[in-house]
Amino acid sequence: MTAHFEVHPSWRQVLGHVLAEAGRLRTDAVVAFDLDSTLLDNRPRQAALVHRFVREYGTSPALADFDARHLHTGFDMREALGRQGLSPEAVEVFLADFRPYWRAHFFTSEACQVDVPVRGAPDYVRRTRAAGAQLAYVTARPEDMRPGTLDVLRRHGFPLPGPGVQLWMRQDEESTDEDFKRGTHPRLARWGRVVAAFDNEPGHANDYRAAFPEATVVLLTTGHSGRVSALAEGVIPVPHFALDAGQE
Ligand SMILES: [Mg+2]
Repeated sequence: MTAHFEVHPSWRQVLGHVLAEAGRLRTDAVVAFDLDSTLLDNRPRQAALVHRFVREYGTSPALADFDARHLHTGFDMREALGRQGLSPEAVEVFLADFRPYWRAHFFTSEACQVDVPVRGAPDYVRRTRAAGAQLAYVTARPEDMRPGTLDVLRRHGFPLPGPGVQLWMRQDEESTDEDFKRGTHPRLARWGRVVAAFDNEPGHANDYRAAFPEATVVLLTTGHSGRVSALAEGVIPVPHFALDAGQE
């Protein structure tokens, strides 16, 4: 199990403060949003790949009806297969076969089409933009996922790249997610005043915190890879983006 972070007791006020700062600074303000497990929920993509793999290779028929709801985060496939009823041994056998298929298909334009928004995300990002801030989607998705990524953003009503909105994707297959994201910090700083940055990975949130000590840095508690499991002082854990109770 990876570390879990308790949500900040005033998280809704913190999200409101970011909107207020966006409105105060307008086009001087820059807000950075990660995509996977921050604005977009990848669990349907994980489940769809299991279904496709079972269909194409005829292995593990017990997983033909694998239920995406067994995934509590985007990072707990092993536990989710157990919740579906597989024995620990069957889980290991399945994962050994499935992993290469997952690696070949997960980061593709086609597979990402089934991603859904994290609760409240499209409305919150629209409000940030409407308040006047410039937006950067900063994602370690490879550049060749741009078409599918744009389709999903459009379909769910997120502001699309254009004047004041940019989509920065990882260009170099060799660079790590961490190197890629740190490499975007100077670009963000040149673009304007970074008032907020949102990510689900503690490592990326900590890097934003170090680079932009004046900014509000938000960690989405949707789940993370476990590469870094300590959170820097001042990073604000939030569960989702719905500012009003009951909002989807
Ligand atoms: Mg992410």
